[in-house]
Amino acid sequence: MKRYLLILMAGSVLAACEQEAAGPRTAVDTLFVNGKIATIDPAMSIASAVAVDEDRIVAVGGDELQQAYVADNTIDLGGRFMMPGFIDSHTHLSGSPRRHIDLMDTTSIEEIKGLVAGKAEELGPGEWITGYGWSEDVMAEARRPLRGDLDEAAPDNPVMLTRAGGHSAVFNSAALRLAEIDESTPQPDSGGIETDASGRLNGVIRERQDIVSHLIPVPTNAEVRDSLIEVLQDQFRLGITSVTQAGIDAEDFAEWEYIYGQHRGALPRAYVQIFWQTPDAMKAFGKKTGDGDKYLRVGPVKLFIDGGFTGPAAYTKQPYRGETDYRGKLSHEPAEITRVIREANEAGWQLGIHAIGDAAIELTVDELADALDAVPRVDHRHYLNHFTVMPSAETMRKMAEYGIAITQQPNFTYTLEGRYVEYLDGDRLEHNNSLRSPMNYGIHVAISSDILPIGPLVGIYAAVTRKGMSGRVFGPDEALTVMEAIQGYTLNGAWLSFEEGDKGSIEPGKLADLVVLDRDLLSEDPEHIMDIGVAQTWLGGTLVYASEQEQAR
Ligand SMILES: [Zn+2]
Repeated sequence: MKRYLLILMAGSVLAACEQEAAGPRTAVDTLFVNGKIATIDPAMSIASAVAVDEDRIVAVGGDELQQAYVADNTIDLGGRFMMPGFIDSHTHLSGSPRRHIDLMDTTSIEEIKGLVAGKAEELGPGEWITGYGWSEDVMAEARRPLRGDLDEAAPDNPVMLTRAGGHSAVFNSAALRLAEIDESTPQPDSGGIETDASGRLNGVIRERQDIVSHLIPVPTNAEVRDSLIEVLQDQFRLGITSVTQAGIDAEDFAEWEYIYGQHRGALPRAYVQIFWQTPDAMKAFGKKTGDGDKYLRVGPVKLFIDGGFTGPAAYTKQPYRGETDYRGKLSHEPAEITRVIREANEAGWQLGIHAIGDAAIELTVDELADALDAVPRVDHRHYLNHFTVMPSAETMRKMAEYGIAITQQPNFTYTLEGRYVEYLDGDRLEHNNSLRSPMNYGIHVAISSDILPIGPLVGIYAAVTRKGMSGRVFGPDEALTVMEAIQGYTLNGAWLSFEEGDKGSIEPGKLADLVVLDRDLLSEDPEHIMDIGVAQTWLGGTLVYASEQEQAR
């Protein structure tokens, strides 16, 4: 990374030396000049220059900054677009062991079979093979991979391939045999084991993949450490400078502390959600929301209320489209949901809750409001991790009244179009992953990716156009302006981690987390937003990513 810094500095140091000294100028580390800088300050002003010293912004303005400051390193942005680093306030980042295959870019079942067969060859018979990220919406065969496909590819290895989104997976016969699951196995109390038209298992299990996956040897943190570090650093390529990791076990937080201890300043800032245990266990953990430093902090408690639409298992008020009674399912008994929300609220934790269906959202909001009535909190910032099926007006009013926020994933409208069209209809389809409606009720809305896919420009494209992958527009009245979408992906995300005073906008005193794009996001034709590339990413005043074109400049 240091190498990039040197290349960029070469030209600019000269520029700084040539400049006439006009009165005493303040020395700073870096001066960005000649940019189009979306500051996301309260006036949404556009600046052209930013002065940075150590890891903070010291001044924001125009050409006058060149008279006021003398910099070790002057970066001429050449008119390019700069904004605060993206804050992805709901994502899942994990390292993977050797048995794992990345399926995010696969576009056919044939391709998947090839990857699985190759991995079987590499690992030898009997070894588990896992994969993540397939989606039937992009498969050339226009269907999901099924048990028979995996049996052909790897008859002698148990295989589990998880769909993008994580709410279902397909297993081969060897895996189902090991788990002793067959046609006579009773359905689990949530999710489901699928059968085909002839009543045979097709290999797909919704939501309750754990009934098989508990057999997969758990890799040690050390086995996946290097891979996790790579995944974290990869965020910089997308312009992401802060993430909220949406759920780990308390005992794994030590691994994050270890990694961040080793790589201070070279990883995106992280806010880590923790799965609730018991009040005593959480006390024993010894940390709470907000503990940590500007690199790594303990985030909110994570709790699942329902599943998602990829399973599908989102819990809805009306049956799914074309179904007489299937409405998805709760992930826990209602009494358990009440208990966790109450305990965590009372113990002073922030809560970040997974709720996708309208029934799940309404139940969650009622539970949060009851918990807050019982134990009021001054600045709790509880929020919903998703908001796919828009709840009633009454629920949205209640959210505004109790200060319950949302981190929304507009990219779902794009990526999951196929699922929504299949399972939803009418208003609930049009208003999927609503943005404008909750904002109109006064609800705080941040924007995030939830890895479907990670990549803020997909989210911004979908927030602005409301388009699915087919080009169909859903609920155009839910669309945001580009500036609002940027704010959702920056400052509003910082608020969710109580850090709006420290990051999320380009203002004096804030951390110099910045991203330079290769085109002007504000004036680009919205249709082409997804084609915009990240040129540079800066974390705390240090260049942590520069694109190849950038390095060649
Ligand atoms: Zn998630």
